[in-house]
Amino acid sequence: MEGELLNLITGKNLSKGTKDALVWNGDHNGVYSVKFAYQNMRNQNNGLVNDVFSLLWEAKAMPKALSTTWRILLGRLPTFDNLIRRGVAATSSLCVLCNTAEESSQHLFLECIYAQRAWSLCLRWIGILSVQHKDISVHF
Ligand SMILES: [Zn+2]
Repeated sequence: MEGELLNLITGKNLSKGTKDALVWNGDHNGVYSVKFAYQNMRNQNNGLVNDVFSLLWEAKAMPKALSTTWRILLGRLPTFDNLIRRGVAATSSLCVLCNTAEESSQHLFLECIYAQRAWSLCLRWIGILSVQHKDISVHF
């Protein structure tokens, strides 16, 4: 976090007499709005990511499923790798299902042997033969 802070303030002019203020850089007025935040998020990502999120929000699924998928795509699930990165104590970083690899969204939903078996059954059930992609957004 210290390095991140130094990167943010490097090259900035800090002055003692000036009052601190929050300024939103996403809009020329410096005022935050959800509309401009959403536009900035869409513009920051490449077309593939935009397509993924467009597909996600257009999907006719339960809101909880959409929300969980959104968190998976952003890497925001409380998996062991995320918990350890945030300083939350964990006894092990290994996957709770297979106990052979570090638990991450990528592993839990794509690489774990149990996930692969589930995907295989689902794909066979709907009659699709497919190779699963290693990138979770492409897989989605
Ligand atoms: Zn696993």
